[in-house]
Amino acid sequence: MTTHILGYPRIGAKRELKKACEQYWSGQIGIDDLLAVGAQIRKENWQLQKEAGIDLIPTNDFSFYDQVLDMSLTIGAIPKRFEEVANATTNPLDLYFAMARGYQKNGLDITAMEMTKWFDTNYHYLVPEFYKNQKFKLSHTKFLDEFKEAKAQGVNAKPVFIGPVSYLLLGKAKETGFEKLDLIDDLLSVYIDIFTELEKQGATWIQIDEPFLVMDLSEKERQIFERVYQTLADKFPALKFILTTYFEGLHKNASWVVKLPVEVLHLDLVRGFEQLDTVLNIVPDTLKLSLGVVDGRNIWKNDLQASKAILENAISKLGVERVLVAPSCSLLHVPFDLDNEPETTSLTSEIKNWLAFAKQKLTEVAVLSALVEEELPEEIQSFYNANKLAMDSKRNSELIHNEIVKVAVGAISEGDSHREASFETRQPLQHDALKLPLLPTTTIGSFPQTKEIRLLRSKLKKGEITEEAYNEAIGQEIEKSISWQEELGIDVLVHGEFERNDMVEYFGEQLSGFAFTKFGWVQSYGSRAVKPPIIYGDVSRPEPMTVAWTAFAQSLTDLPVKGMLTGPITILQWSFVRNDQDRETTANQIALAIREEVNDLERAGIKVIQIDEPAIREGLPLRKEAWKTYLDWAIKAFRISASGVGNQTQIHTHMCYSEFNDIIESIAAMDADVITIETSRSQMELLDAFVNFKYPNEIGPGVYDIHSPRVPNQTEMEFLIEKAAQLVPVKNLWVNPDCGLKTRGWKETNDALVEMVNAAKALRKKLEVVA
Ligand code: GLN
Ligand code: ZN
Repeated sequence: MTTHILGYPRIGAKRELKKACEQYWSGQIGIDDLLAVGAQIRKENWQLQKEAGIDLIPTNDFSFYDQVLDMSLTIGAIPKRFEEVANATTNPLDLYFAMARGYQKNGLDITAMEMTKWFDTNYHYLVPEFYKNQKFKLSHTKFLDEFKEAKAQGVNAKPVFIGPVSYLLLGKAKETGFEKLDLIDDLLSVYIDIFTELEKQGATWIQIDEPFLVMDLSEKERQIFERVYQTLADKFPALKFILTTYFEGLHKNASWVVKLPVEVLHLDLVRGFEQLDTVLNIVPDTLKLSLGVVDGRNIWKNDLQASKAILENAISKLGVERVLVAPSCSLLHVPFDLDNEPETTSLTSEIKNWLAFAKQKLTEVAVLSALVEEELPEEIQSFYNANKLAMDSKRNSELIHNEIVKVAVGAISEGDSHREASFETRQPLQHDALKLPLLPTTTIGSFPQTKEIRLLRSKLKKGEITEEAYNEAIGQEIEKSISWQEELGIDVLVHGEFERNDMVEYFGEQLSGFAFTKFGWVQSYGSRAVKPPIIYGDVSRPEPMTVAWTAFAQSLTDLPVKGMLTGPITILQWSFVRNDQDRETTANQIALAIREEVNDLERAGIKVIQIDEPAIREGLPLRKEAWKTYLDWAIKAFRISASGVGNQTQIHTHMCYSEFNDIIESIAAMDADVITIETSRSQMELLDAFVNFKYPNEIGPGVYDIHSPRVPNQTEMEFLIEKAAQLVPVKNLWVNPDCGLKTRGWKETNDALVEMVNAAKALRKKLEVVA
C-alpha cells in the first residue's frame, strides 16, 4: 500500500529556522546563511521520510514564513503597496519578509499583510489581498527549485500546493465591485504554468490541498471546483493529482467531490471518520482514496489495530492498489521528534510511551502499510505488539483515571452553572461592596515581562537561584506595581502576573493531568512557535494556584485587587487534548478545578476575579451546524468555573479579538459581571453589535491598542469612550486597555495609563449627568 504524508514541520527540531530567520532580520547573518539553514532542514526532513519508508515525499511544504504567502509570491499576488519595496530590495526573500512583517526602511513605512488563523488550528497564515481585474503571473520558482533539489537527493518528490479555489477563498477582496472567485480563470492559468514547469522536470505526482471542500459551499463554488479540476485533468492527462481535504469530513459535498477527475482523493478520517462509509459506497472505479488515519493534529500514538481494521475494510472494497495511507493532515501541527524529549517528572516514561510526534508518525504510516500485507516481517510484528501494549497501558493507567474527578463531573448539576441571583440583583450588591466611581479604570492583568524577570525564571529553573530568592524578587515587583497603580489612580488593581511564564502553562504546571515537553514546539506563525501542554489525564487541582500572590497583593492596598485566572476553554484550546474522552468532559474537569480556585480567592478576601477566555471563539467548529453544540458546552464550562461565588463578588472575563458579532449572544450568556474586550484597533467598530443587541452586563471596550508601542493620548481615548457611551449605558461602562501589557515596556505603559486615567476622570464629570 502506498504511503505518503501531506506536509512536514519546518521550524526545525530545535527551532533552527526560527533562530536563523530572527538572526537574518536583525542583520546578524546574511542571506546565504539563512538559505543554508533552510536547505539543511529540508534535507534532514526528506532523509527522515525516506528512511521511515514514505513513498511519496512532499516538497514545497517548506516555507521561510508561511505556505500561503509562498503561493502569493509564486503567482505574483503582491499588494500594490509593496511595489516600492520590490524596487528597494534585491532579494525576493526580502520582499517576501516585508509582506509578512511590514517594511520600515529606506524612508518607507509599509504595513504587513494581515494574518489570520488557519481554519481551526493555532497556525496563522498571511491573508492574500485581491483587487478587481487583478492579473496573476508566475513570479517565483521556489516550488521548482525545491523539486529539483529533492530530485538531486534521490527523493521521490511530490510537490504540494494550496489549491486555486481554496487560495482565493482564503483571501480578502480589497476593493468593491467584484467577487474573489471572479479571478479563478486567470489564477488557474498560472497554476497551469506551474504544473507545466514541473512536468517538464519530471514530476508525476502533485498534491493539491483544497481544505474548503469540508466547508459549507454554495452551488457556484461547487461549479467552480468542478470546472477547475476538469480543466486540470484535460490539460495534464499524465499527471497524478492527489486532491486533499482535511480538518473535517466532506459531509454532503461528498457526492460530487468523489466525481472530481483526480487520481487520488485524501480524506481526514480522524476529524471526519463518519464520511468513510458514504464515500466507499459512492466512489467511482477510477478514483483512489488516501486514508488519513494517523492524527496530524494531536500527539497520541496511533491505535494501529483500529487503523489496520479501517484500512482492511477499505481494501476489501477497493483493492490494495486503490488505497493509500497517510496522516490526517499536514504534520505541521505536531512537534518534531519525541526522541528529543528527556524523561522528566512531568513527561514520565509511562506517558512518553503513549506519544508520537511527527517523526514517530512517519513510522506509524509505514508500519500500517506493512500491516495489511499477508506476511509480516518480525520487526513489524514486534512494533505492532508494542503498540498494543502501549494502548492497553494508556486505557488502564492510574495516571489517567481519577475516580474523584469522574464522580465530580458526573455530579455537576444545573445549579452549578448559575450564579445565586441574576445580574440585576448582583450589580447593586457589587457596587456597594466595591465603591467604584463611574467609568472605573482597570487593566487586563499582566504588566511588562522584562528581561530581568524572564532571566530570574530561567535561573530558578536551572537551579542558579533559590526558590526563596525568586519569590522575594517577585514579591518586590508586586509591591512596586501596587503602589504605582495607586499613584496612577487606577480603581481596580492587578498584581501584574510577574510570576507567570504563559497564561496556560502557569496553570497546567499546577494542575494534575498535564504534562510538559522540552522541545514540543509547533509553529504558530512565521518564526513564532508555541509549546502546548499535553492533557493526558483527569484534571484536578491539588492545591490553590494563585491565592498566595493575589492575597499578598491585596494585603498591600485598600483598593480592590483583581484575581487573575485562565478559563477552562482557553486552557483546553491551547493544549493537546485527550483523544479518549470528549472535549466537553475535559472542559468540565478544568472548569471544576478553576471553580475551586475562584472560590478560594473569594475566601481569601478577593472581591473581583477575572477569568480570561481569549480562545472561546477559535474553538468554533468549521461547519456552522455544529456551532450551537460547541457554544452550549463551552459557555456552560465557563459558567461552572464562575458560579461558585456569592452575589457580591464581581466576575470579569476578557477576550481579545474583534470578530464576535456572530457569537455575541453566547458571550452575553456567559453572564460575567464585566467583560473587557478588544476594540481599539477597529475604532469601536465592534460596538456595532450592540446596536441590535443590548448587552446586559458591564463592559470595558478596550480604549487603546496594546499591540503597538505607540502611546495614545487622552483626547483620542475620550473620543472612544464617548462613542461607546452612546451604545452602552454609562453605568455599565469600564475604561481599560484592550489586552494584557506583558509585551510592552514600562515607560510606554506608564505614559499610556496616565492618559487613560485622565480620560476617565474628565469624562466622569461630563457623563455623571447622563448616568
Ligand atoms: N490576563 C492576561 C494578560 O493580561 C490576558 C492575556 C490575553 O488576553 N491573551 O496577559
Ligand atoms: Zn487579551
